[in-house]
Amino acid sequence: MCGILGIIGEDDVVSDLYEGLIAIQHRGQDAAGIMTYDEVFHLRKGLGLVADVFDPEALESLPGNAGIAHVRYPTVGLGGEEDAQPFFVTSPHAISMAHNGNVTNFLELREQFAAQGKGIASQCDVEVILRVFEQAFAAADPALVAVDRVAEAVAAVFREVKGSYSVVALLADTGLVAFRDPFGIKPCIMGRRKTSGKDAVAVASESVALDLLGFGNVRDLAPGEMLLVDLDRNEHFRQIAPANGHPCIFEYVYFARPDSFIDKVSVYKTRLRLGESLAAEHQRSGLPVPDVVIPVPDSARTAATTLARALGVNYREGLVKNRYIGRTFIMPGQKARQASVKRKLNSIRVEFEGKHVLIVDDSIVRGTTSRKIVQMARDAGARIVGFASYSPPLQHPCVYGIDMQTTDEFVARNRSNAEICKFIGADYLLYGTIDDLETAAGAGNTDIAHFCTACFTGHYPTGDVTAHCLGSIAEERRGSRLAISEGR
Ligand code: AMP
Repeated sequence: MCGILGIIGEDDVVSDLYEGLIAIQHRGQDAAGIMTYDEVFHLRKGLGLVADVFDPEALESLPGNAGIAHVRYPTVGLGGEEDAQPFFVTSPHAISMAHNGNVTNFLELREQFAAQGKGIASQCDVEVILRVFEQAFAAADPALVAVDRVAEAVAAVFREVKGSYSVVALLADTGLVAFRDPFGIKPCIMGRRKTSGKDAVAVASESVALDLLGFGNVRDLAPGEMLLVDLDRNEHFRQIAPANGHPCIFEYVYFARPDSFIDKVSVYKTRLRLGESLAAEHQRSGLPVPDVVIPVPDSARTAATTLARALGVNYREGLVKNRYIGRTFIMPGQKARQASVKRKLNSIRVEFEGKHVLIVDDSIVRGTTSRKIVQMARDAGARIVGFASYSPPLQHPCVYGIDMQTTDEFVARNRSNAEICKFIGADYLLYGTIDDLETAAGAGNTDIAHFCTACFTGHYPTGDVTAHCLGSIAEERRGSRLAISEGR
């Protein structure tokens, strides 16, 4: 999972890019990069948090009134510095690009380029998007106006590159480009800010970045749509391919910040609704009413408030997170993850002692976090420990960019509810349903006909995810994890 940002304005954009990246830091903590443009490109990227990669000297080295930026969590590849984004090519056209998503035919495209003697130098799928884009841009009739040439390049990407991707790009002498693949799985939103001349324009993975930078008048890019903001800041929107939107439902469950809107749906309100539907599931199942509801911080907090209220019990912050330790999942490698769960969460004993506690989390993946939390609750003296996930059992690999690639990692895969409950050590286990989830997110925007629910249902909307594709992604993923755990 990654975060992207692009801005074109009147003055230098680097400080806005920096601040915007900090606002979407939750989307990736592994690497960060900024490319700016002022007749030439200026690039800084590196491994680590945004604040680690950019010191004042680095920011000063990035002049220009247009730029793109990226935070990365690697889903495929080892995540070396060379794979940090933005990427760029200089010949025959200078183009820089960053993306959020995952290209499912990356290996085929890499082989195709290799067969043409134009090998791909990285393990990063933005490189194939960039190369397809650049070739088509170079092949387009130079007599065409810029927007038509860009449109041809984006059309070529949509034809050839499979999977999910939201992209920002800088084209020297042309402007800022953004596009969202025809399935619109990854979010992409644009907004405008007044200047003394034409509006400055920003494009981002999440509305929170635009909000924070004072960009209003926002609108999501439609699936299959592109935007070119030329160097005079004229906006050119084009629908390049028919929209077949399937926004990722997991953004609302876990990934996005609660203060973001994605495709007009409030992440926060979706989670509030999920708490209510979970309470209804609890009541339907005839379970005894708990003494308290305790969220696993941070993503489950919002749903826990409505869950507790609907059950008529207290919401209590019985688990305290050390906010200076990154999201456990966002550290590559299981070893790092296991060690950090312990350091990340601590219990407040008085909230557990002698009580029937219902602990709520957004999801259960491998079950290792839930298992440790249940044990923590017991160690703190809980009498009954119920565990609830407001999303349904995760069972299928995400091939579109969320890190949960290998099938054998899901605790819910081929296990009954009772078996999962036993594995995590709870007295009872409750899951939200897929209907609850689609209803909760869909209530925010009734125009959304479908969500991507592949990780819960195994229905991959792009229709090209074969067993072979799943197998090779899992293989690549396992190889990367092994290399990471061996410190390679
Ligand atoms: P696990 O121990 O593998 O079951 O991890 C479950 C925890 O990871 C939950 O607390 C979720 O909040 C979090 N989580 C679930 N999916 C993801 C994801 N794709 N990326 C990061 N964190 C996740």
